[in-house]
Amino acid sequence: MQSEGSDAILPVARPPHLGTPPNLPLDMAVTKRPLLLTPGPVTIPEEVRQATARPLLYHRGPEFKHVVRRVRDGLKYLYQTREEVIVLASSGTGAMEGAVVNLCSRGDRVLVVRGGKFGERWEKIARAYGLDVVPLDVPWGEAVDPERVRRALAEQGPFRAVLLQASETSTGVAHPVREVADLTRRTDTLCVVDGITAVGVFPIPFDEWGIDCLVTGSQKALMLPPGLAFAGLSARAWQAAARADLPRFYFDFARERDCLAQDTTAWTPAISLIEGLDLVLERIREEGLDALFRRHRLAATAMRAGVRALGLSLFTGSPSDALTAIEIPDPPGASAVVKRFRDAHGMTIAGGQDQLKGRIIRLSHMGDVDRYHVVRAMTALESVMDELGFRPADGAGVAAVVASYARGATE
Ligand SMILES: *Cc1c(COP(=O)(O)O)cnc(C)c1O
Repeated sequence: MQSEGSDAILPVARPPHLGTPPNLPLDMAVTKRPLLLTPGPVTIPEEVRQATARPLLYHRGPEFKHVVRRVRDGLKYLYQTREEVIVLASSGTGAMEGAVVNLCSRGDRVLVVRGGKFGERWEKIARAYGLDVVPLDVPWGEAVDPERVRRALAEQGPFRAVLLQASETSTGVAHPVREVADLTRRTDTLCVVDGITAVGVFPIPFDEWGIDCLVTGSQKALMLPPGLAFAGLSARAWQAAARADLPRFYFDFARERDCLAQDTTAWTPAISLIEGLDLVLERIREEGLDALFRRHRLAATAMRAGVRALGLSLFTGSPSDALTAIEIPDPPGASAVVKRFRDAHGMTIAGGQDQLKGRIIRLSHMGDVDRYHVVRAMTALESVMDELGFRPADGAGVAAVVASYARGATE
């Protein structure tokens, strides 16, 4: 018989993220799982997490073929396209690199909208493959003016492609993809869009807008762990892919497309993540794209209303509905705010990068978001700004969030 104090009842050391985070005040002891408010990765719904934890299926067996078949259909629904959307085992950057190597040939000239970290990433990838990059510089926090794109296309071409972000996550800006695609569809230039924090957040109807390549990743609005990336290609992008001569092997889009047509993948897929994706896509279909986009719009609108009510400034006048970038005065400085969210409230938010380091914070509202997500984030923001001496917490931010939802405000 075991006596009290024997090793049978020794407490099991748990990783800190499974228990109450240390140092939290007693009134927050129910916060068992720290909230990820970062613009990727985002908090994963529990049923999605469980779907990624099932016993492995064999990826060449019949059951997994059914999964792939459903996922193909679901991705077409999400992208609003009749084309195949290919699935890669990589982070989002892999699909960006894949877009460049599948669509471009040696020495091709490309126009890169450079208005943040991710615009710079397009440039770096293109330069790594020796492409002739013409950057179109946009001040961080502003959206690109389509007129500038039109002029660059007319005066500095010919361009193989325009590379831009639908949602520039480093600044919280939404770029006018529809207008840019309107310009490129009448030319031989391909419109290549990084939609990594846009697909599943706001409308980018792929076929209707005439986009040529749209990439996304699993850990943003698709509320999965990182590890999957996606790319949709238009008919003329597939033609370009057949001619493009940049070196490629793993990220050979045509090979993946041909495999998908057989409900399989070229290489060993990220089986568990694709099982999670199957569930996510089913949920998105049940909800419907209109409702999905509206839910994100309501959250973004409410978040912005709350921020203004606190007397803080939004970093951009052209905000993406995926996240809110907020200017933080110094003092207290954005880094102190990030730290305080984590240490005192068990929530992880993002600061700014590079030139925005210490100047802004970024709060995500994509994926599994509803009014309580926004209220929770705003409650913490109010408290943190109070604790750091910026402004007493009086509920003004939370009240603005609740009122915004009550009005169904969508700006
Ligand atoms: C997250 C993100 C990426 C991809 O980054 P990975 O770390 O490679 O997944 C690319 N572009 C944008 C706009 C993003 O938000």
